[in-house]
Amino acid sequence: MAESHAAPEVAARAARAADLADLDAATADCFACPRLVDWRTEVARTKRASFRDQDYWGRPVPGFGDPAARIAILGLAPAAHGGNRTGRILTGDRSGDVLFAALHRAGLANQPTSVAADDGLALRSTRIFAAVRCAPPDNKPTPAERDTCAPWSHREVELIRPTLRVVVALGAFAWAAWWPALRSAYGLRPPSPRPAFGHGAHWSGTAAPDLLGCYHVSQQNTFTGRLTPGMLDDVFARAKQLAAID
Ligand code: SF4
Repeated sequence: MAESHAAPEVAARAARAADLADLDAATADCFACPRLVDWRTEVARTKRASFRDQDYWGRPVPGFGDPAARIAILGLAPAAHGGNRTGRILTGDRSGDVLFAALHRAGLANQPTSVAADDGLALRSTRIFAAVRCAPPDNKPTPAERDTCAPWSHREVELIRPTLRVVVALGAFAWAAWWPALRSAYGLRPPSPRPAFGHGAHWSGTAAPDLLGCYHVSQQNTFTGRLTPGMLDDVFARAKQLAAID
């Protein structure tokens, strides 16, 4: 299926999802982007040596967390051997280790680790989802893949809109992905010019959730000290304050 034809079909399927469970099921059954379907399948077949005894998920990775979320954490895409292996976003990789430890310190997660879909992790008032739902080669989706996949996250925002107060964008890609979501889920015109992404950047709109920028929890950022645990703590303290979470 060519992506130009796939995009309207994804939009129609996302629009039909009546609730988050519906959306999760429909997302996991998406085959709209040929390159990403090939990649996710190939990674699941060849595996990383250290996970060779495991069955990889090898499908799109739905959102995870509280259906009545006041905070949404918007990421880029699942990692090849993280979410694409475990079937849960930011689960089973170093990025997730850093993020969930921070959410636990903030009182937004019941445990500091996220290693497998059945590990008992639960989030409080928080939901995490990616702008692109399949693992892309080199973590770089094409613009066409980004646009084809957008209706899944837009519908997710619509479904949690009654409670949503703050969006934390992990990285510039997620920050940029918020503006089309704002238009789709809230019917609001994005600001022009768009506010620039930065760690600690804050955009506050009328009749829309606040948007906070946070460097992505990638190893590239956390191993180099560009993003420290203290910086994450500050972002989630701010998010909780804006969302009126104790
Ligand atoms: S990236 Fe999104 S639209 Fe493309 S196949 Fe995966 S879930 Fe479907």
